[in-house]
Amino acid sequence: MTNEEKKYVDDFMAEIIAKNPGEKEFHQAVREVVESLAPHMIASPHLRKMKILERIAEPERVVIFRVPWINDKGEVEINRGYRVQMNSAIGPYKGGIRFHPSVNLGILKFLAFEQTFKNSLTTLPMGGGKGGSDFNPKGKSDMEVMKFCQSFMTELYRHIGADTDVPAGDIGVGGREIGYLYGQYKRIRDEFTGVLTGKGIDWGGSPLRPEATGYGLCYFAEAMLATRGESFEGKTVCVSGSGNVAQYAAKKVIELGGKVVTMSDSNGFIYDPDGIDAEKWEYIYELKNIYRGRIREYAEHYPNAQYFEGERPWKIKCDIALPCATQNELNGEEAAMLLANGCTCVAEGANMPSTPEAIEAFQKAKILYSPGKASNAGGVSTSGLEMTQNSMRLKWSREEVDKNLRSIMNNIHETCIKYGTEEDGYINYVKGANIAGFMKVANAMMAQGIV
Ligand code: NDP
Repeated sequence: MTNEEKKYVDDFMAEIIAKNPGEKEFHQAVREVVESLAPHMIASPHLRKMKILERIAEPERVVIFRVPWINDKGEVEINRGYRVQMNSAIGPYKGGIRFHPSVNLGILKFLAFEQTFKNSLTTLPMGGGKGGSDFNPKGKSDMEVMKFCQSFMTELYRHIGADTDVPAGDIGVGGREIGYLYGQYKRIRDEFTGVLTGKGIDWGGSPLRPEATGYGLCYFAEAMLATRGESFEGKTVCVSGSGNVAQYAAKKVIELGGKVVTMSDSNGFIYDPDGIDAEKWEYIYELKNIYRGRIREYAEHYPNAQYFEGERPWKIKCDIALPCATQNELNGEEAAMLLANGCTCVAEGANMPSTPEAIEAFQKAKILYSPGKASNAGGVSTSGLEMTQNSMRLKWSREEVDKNLRSIMNNIHETCIKYGTEEDGYINYVKGANIAGFMKVANAMMAQGIV
């Protein structure tokens, strides 16, 4: 970075930190983008004059609301609900809802900010948003989850709409929660529209939406590997997480001939040296989606596997790492372990799972590394396809959606190559994704005036 670029980044970040105190994940996400864009911004006085980047980093609207509900013991519980409507320059706000006790405004702003760039990369007309609550669905009965979702939607409904803001799932929000949220929206508004994505297949959902983020991640990683004449065939793969993204990433890796040896949850990880095959995958799917159990139980069921309580999978030797759990789950030390063990490809399924130190290590070692905003965009892309099907009142086939998903992931990969290839030929996917994602939003904002 030149001195001028460094000064641009430092000045920009000083303002962001002063304006958004304590929101460390938001600062982290903005810094990564501003570092990539600094040369472009310095060369573009018209964008600086119109404060395009400053405006992108300021949400258009944030709604914070009380979510009261009654638990199974008849006691009153109170959670906090949020919706961050970040940017609508290229389409309605679009982004998931997260239910997790760690949820706060800074985390949702980082996710909404990332989403703006990701959605732009998909080439579909979707702006950026994110929402959620500090509600913890873990250990709650179905009835409690339903009552919470109904109360959450009783406020949220007035801020969203098929042409305004279209939420989807994220951590802690899967098919069950989307169902309860949609039911309440429909009841209040008395309309059956595509206001949420990730709906059930029989009531407006798109084929392949549950699979899309994990499958898309693997399609993207395949394209990355192909740049070096490689594929998943015969490769050992460490996956973290065991939720929606991790499950379908693992499934596709198995289909593509790779060997998945780890999966995790917030308590620990399992290592199966024999690999998780299709039958073991079914066990995990049921364990997580039906019994809502812990990953530890896998090692009790398959005695060849080991369980590591309180640890993350990155010390296990692998060729490819797919972090699919949560933000900042792979730090500099863990990146060094992966590199020392011969890992040559890290593709992010989660949002911002690698810390800045880890990203620096991957890029310094010149291994294949892609940020979530590029490689996990398959989920929101298929949500975009769900919105299209809802507007057309049609349902496409699984094959058609899969073909579209593959083509979108390949396009995003091509775009990263176009904007991210460095002088020595190394593909800097972070730079590629940030510049390409930014340009479309910036152009739209320039055209729409100061709003
Ligand atoms: P799920 O809730 O289905 O699964 C989350 C997984 O991550 C669970 O295994 C969970 O373990 C684990 N996890 C959550 N928080 C932590 C934590 N603090 N430390 C360790 N492990 C944790 O969520 P998704 O699979 O939908 O989302 C995973 C990631 O992918 C998130 O970063 C999300 O933003 C991103 N993403 C999701 C998309 C989607 O379509 N769903 C689209 C694009 C990105 P436990 O059960 O113990 O909590």
